[in-house]
Amino acid sequence: MIAILGSANMDLVVTVERAPGRGETVTGRTFVTVPGGKGANQALAAARAGGQVAFLGAVGGDEFGRGITDLLTGAGIDVSGLTVSDQPTGTAHITVDASGDNSIVVVPGANGTVTALTDAHRAGIDAADLLLLQLELPLGLVVEAARYARSRGVRVVLTPAPAVPLPVELLDAVDVLVPNEHEAALLAGVDDPVAAARNLAGRGGDVVVTLGSQGALWLHDGGEWPVPAFPVQAVDTTAAGDTFVGVLAVGLAEGVEWAEALRRAAAAAALSVQRPGASSSMPHRAEIDAFLAK
Ligand code: ADP
Repeated sequence: MIAILGSANMDLVVTVERAPGRGETVTGRTFVTVPGGKGANQALAAARAGGQVAFLGAVGGDEFGRGITDLLTGAGIDVSGLTVSDQPTGTAHITVDASGDNSIVVVPGANGTVTALTDAHRAGIDAADLLLLQLELPLGLVVEAARYARSRGVRVVLTPAPAVPLPVELLDAVDVLVPNEHEAALLAGVDDPVAAARNLAGRGGDVVVTLGSQGALWLHDGGEWPVPAFPVQAVDTTAAGDTFVGVLAVGLAEGVEWAEALRRAAAAAALSVQRPGASSSMPHRAEIDAFLAK
């Protein structure tokens, strides 16, 4: 069982020729709403890859919250630790211009109300082999959850995104740290992502630094193993990292070898980048198996 304590957002995505300047109004081209948030993304990726998943977090009692909850339950995810807050569901207001550059406003909403562990959260963590955390919920809660999981012998996997400096007590409670290159650099205070990852691995625990189309590097117990990316034509890399982590967690929860769990994670991420969207692009277990069998 994999417990994921994290954010659920509705992404409101507008495409425009060019983003408006201050005080300006422009006409958009397209508008879509896409369920997102790193927590919900990782939960969906893990569930599609065949994991037994419990999602812990909060949405609002609104249309967006119902849409996200339906998506999660439809994927077979246990939502008994998902509360309905009096705040609106978290939203990300995303403007993408013709050159593909984006600007984003995130309103945490219900996510911001998850400030302390509840009995339902503890029950979800107690039942889990692994707890997946990211940094889109209040930091104090993330620290509390990591320390609680550690005290119960539940392995903690942290995606340190969005990147912020982390308290040592959080890093000390993490078993597996999965930063991308920017997050690794910020956390270690070193520009080169591999040097940064070595630095982070020096505190003990596993580190997997993801390097986009360059793959990833797994650092364990003084050793380093590259995780090659599969050569594919990427059309949208949104949530590649969340897909990677969700699928890695499934392998680790099933007790498969790290190398194999990482290979499956890379395959799932390679499948996801070939399709547009975040949640819509995450592959099912059979697709991952078929891709690896080719
Ligand atoms: P994030 O989305 O968190 O920034 P990355 O961009 O590092 O994460 O991607 C995570 C993983 O997804 C990589 O380690 C790699 O396995 C896979 N991936 C990302 N981009 C590509 C790509 N263009 N082609 C193939 N695999 C990719």
